[in-house]
Amino acid sequence: MQQYFVHQKLAIDMEFDMTVEQSRHISTVLRMKDGRIIRLVDSQSLVFYGTIQVNKNIVRVKVTQPIFEKRESDVKITLAMALIKGDRWDWFLEKATECGVTKIVPFTSSRCIVKEKPEAAARKLERYRKIMTEAAEQSYRHNIPEIIEAIPLKQLIEHKSSSNFLAYEKEFDCFLTSISRDISSITIVIGPEGGFTSEEADYLTIHGFSSVSLGRRILRAETAAIAACIILDTLGERHD
Ligand code: SAH
Repeated sequence: MQQYFVHQKLAIDMEFDMTVEQSRHISTVLRMKDGRIIRLVDSQSLVFYGTIQVNKNIVRVKVTQPIFEKRESDVKITLAMALIKGDRWDWFLEKATECGVTKIVPFTSSRCIVKEKPEAAARKLERYRKIMTEAAEQSYRHNIPEIIEAIPLKQLIEHKSSSNFLAYEKEFDCFLTSISRDISSITIVIGPEGGFTSEEADYLTIHGFSSVSLGRRILRAETAAIAACIILDTLGERHD
């Protein structure tokens, strides 16, 4: 069943028009007919079923029933991710969203191959948000993760959580899998294709990011990010 995020508060029996883009997706791409049921997530992250009615190019929905379910992670995960090349970056955004990330903080560091051009930043951000919205709808999330414009590595200290880690392939003692389960919010920093310089790693550790290993093998940056996300989501899982 297809899910859509809507930018308003919903209530049972309410009727409203989907946006032009959502209507086109429902009627032209998915070719849904009158009476089909969709999932709706409202501006307060409440979830409902809705029944559609296709009127020319606009789809009208009637909200029918609330859905009570748990989909979001118990731990707030901020992934500070070094900019990596185009299609790998897009893959990372999609998979991190599926795996429950709360916030993505892109950053640049000395071994980043990708250089952020300021004039393109706003347009890029819009495209990133679209990828993340689609991934959040596909994975039945109740929130679309947040993403901000890329910042220099030194500013990562402004994005700390209650626990802070640096994924570092030169760390062989502390594994991310063995950190405390009692975590509520966490920031983890993942380096670019070429890794961190030792100065960068030192800077982050001095500022409270403990270095952790993701395993014995060297992972590509985007693999490391997704591995970290899955480990943290699972560690934070509360079975209540
Ligand atoms: N230093 C290497 C590899 C960089 S891998 C090089 O020069 O090619 C890219 C990023 O993924 C690293 O900066 C690190 O944050 C993360 N990473 C990859 N494998 C890891 C591992 N086994 N443990 C922790 N972090 C890892």
